[in-house]
Amino acid sequence: MTKTGHCHCGDVSYEVNGEPTRMAQCHCNACRRITGTGHNVQAFFNSDDLNISDKTATHESTSDAGNIRTRHFCPNCGSRLFSYNSKTPNTVGISVGSFDDSSWFKPELIVYVSQRPNWDIIDESIKTHKLM
Ligand SMILES: [Zn+2]
Ligand SMILES: [Zn+2]
Repeated sequence: MTKTGHCHCGDVSYEVNGEPTRMAQCHCNACRRITGTGHNVQAFFNSDDLNISDKTATHESTSDAGNIRTRHFCPNCGSRLFSYNSKTPNTVGISVGSFDDSSWFKPELIVYVSQRPNWDIIDESIKTHKLM
């Protein structure tokens, strides 16, 4: 099934085919600062399945494990849309809030719960990991 989404201003839209290979929620320091809230939720797909309408801006940082994380965002409105990890170059993480319909999403794993702020309540039925 094709899933569609776009940034807040609409300059960057995308479609992705196929099903997510992984669905996760992360509370790490980077995800909290990037999102400005308690956690980030991403659905991961095969990067070949993603088609993007327009150019994105990017920012790179090094993860705890020493991999390069490249995060893509709309150059106009700043909405964060996609992220890549140099360890898994064929996988793209898509910010779940940017999908036009995200009702299919259900996190399978919550990571970096050790860095979760106490006001960000999590679903106790989901498997957690202190770190990743
Ligand atoms: Zn935008
Ligand atoms: Zn994170």
